[in-house]
Amino acid sequence: MMKKILAFLLSVHLLMSCGSNESPSDFDFTTQFEKSEGTETATYEEVIAFYQNLADAYTSVAMYEMRSTDSGKPLHLVTFNPNRTFESEFSDDKRENILLINNGIHPGESDGIDASMMLLRDFAEEKIKAPQNTIIAVIPVYNIGGALNRNSGTRTNQNGPKEYGFRGNARNYDLNRDFIKADTKNARSFTHLFRALDPDLFIDNHVSNGADYQYTLTHLFTQHNKLGGPLGDYLHTSFTPQLEDSLAQKNWDITPYVNVWGTTPENGFTQFMDSPRYSTGYTTLYNTLGMMVETHMLKPYKDRVEGTYELMKSFIAIADNEAEVIKELRKNAMTRFKVGDEYPLAWKVDSSQTTTLSFKGYEGERVPSAVTGANRLKYDRTKPFEKDVTYYNYFEPSNSVTVPEKYIVPQGYWHVMDRLKENGIDYERLRADTSMNAQVYKIRSYESRKRPYEGHYQHYNTQVEMVSQEVQLRKGDYVVSTQQPGIRYLLETLEPTAPDSFFNWNYFDAILQQKEGFSPYVWEDKAEALLNENPEMKAEFEAKKASDENFANNWFAQLDWIHKQSHHYEKSHLRYPIVRVGG
Ligand SMILES: [Zn+2]
Repeated sequence: MMKKILAFLLSVHLLMSCGSNESPSDFDFTTQFEKSEGTETATYEEVIAFYQNLADAYTSVAMYEMRSTDSGKPLHLVTFNPNRTFESEFSDDKRENILLINNGIHPGESDGIDASMMLLRDFAEEKIKAPQNTIIAVIPVYNIGGALNRNSGTRTNQNGPKEYGFRGNARNYDLNRDFIKADTKNARSFTHLFRALDPDLFIDNHVSNGADYQYTLTHLFTQHNKLGGPLGDYLHTSFTPQLEDSLAQKNWDITPYVNVWGTTPENGFTQFMDSPRYSTGYTTLYNTLGMMVETHMLKPYKDRVEGTYELMKSFIAIADNEAEVIKELRKNAMTRFKVGDEYPLAWKVDSSQTTTLSFKGYEGERVPSAVTGANRLKYDRTKPFEKDVTYYNYFEPSNSVTVPEKYIVPQGYWHVMDRLKENGIDYERLRADTSMNAQVYKIRSYESRKRPYEGHYQHYNTQVEMVSQEVQLRKGDYVVSTQQPGIRYLLETLEPTAPDSFFNWNYFDAILQQKEGFSPYVWEDKAEALLNENPEMKAEFEAKKASDENFANNWFAQLDWIHKQSHHYEKSHLRYPIVRVGG
């Protein structure tokens, strides 16, 4: 593993001070947010210059240039590490835990960009107590292309700042849907730095859309049943309540993310299920304790940024206090799933268990719209309330598979292997052509979105049938063991029925189309001969005609049915090319 991490590091540049013109102490570390009294967010250039100067001024701060993004500019990573030995934050045997903080994935939601700048400065300047057991790693701006596309209108619902970046990246992708499918260089660059750092904890800073209520701060922790095991229990019963209590003591009430659309929260609401296309869903694949911060869009920008700052400060204090517990839980989680175990791929709400929230909302009512004449929702801020609200925050598996010993990826599927390699997955290559018994999936059915979604016509409701058969494999094909830290990544990308599988993200669409067919006038004579030579097939054919009226009335369907029984029908059609072995 150590070697692999060092290989990762070959593309990391530490940006060090080397005789800059101005002495670092001349730099004014007051942020644009502070200068503007909480009404403006720093530009991309201001953010990078700020951190570069901070790294030049304090040995506890370092800035790295990571891989490129779609904008053409590299992703930056800033670390705060008071016990720094050279590049120790990337080392496997480091004593400290790592918290990775992601900002500006949606650059219009800039709260975390400004809050992180102040937080790292205040740690470096020792204005606030620095963590002793936790290295803080910050992505200053993840969606650089979006941050450069600055405007003052696209956050229609949002109360400040004056100007901000745009949600789409340099190629108009929403990066918080791209972690698994990895269409963008941003996602690939993130994967590289995430796997090199191997963070124990993760925060992704956002601003909410949706309902109105009293809270400025909401937390969207990764779903605890899906994180699973003792680590999931810890997140649910210990870490989350500690964070809520800590913020309540500072008069920063926080509530779980209000997952409510077009209605009001008091009817109850469901926890957000963060599948791996989302940041915290992806980080959960590596047993990282993940949380999205969602500040409330209608609260003043100043309050939102200050709240984000306090939230991160509390989060860090708890994480630092419990560093040993978290390290141990996470280490054990890495080997939780063994060959032959059931692995849950999809989830549904378990309404037999709920949590009652004492929720601070506003009365909402339906009144006639002055614009459309229809009934519209209107919240009345003069009528705040605190009511018990049912929160559906328990989930149970709705689909699972047994864990195989290994997957075999034919070398032709190099685009799949590229993703696995970026994720630091270990593999071997077959040294000779061989055949072996394997489990092979046939795609039985699937549905596809009718409109494009994030660059894809994504599939869903995918059904498969598994058969055991002897398969031919070639020298150089990839053998990937599931018994490695990336096991969850492997199962959730390579099992075709997983909601965010590579299959569902259109990586295998070429197998869904038949490449060869028949001319009916040629096949008529061969089909007749085939039926005459195979009485059993003929009997089955006649039975199908007798029982299926549509079939009986469709001459092409009949010819096609016979063709599919023959040796002429191609074996690759609907055959999922990655096979399972063992388990
Ligand atoms: Zn967002």
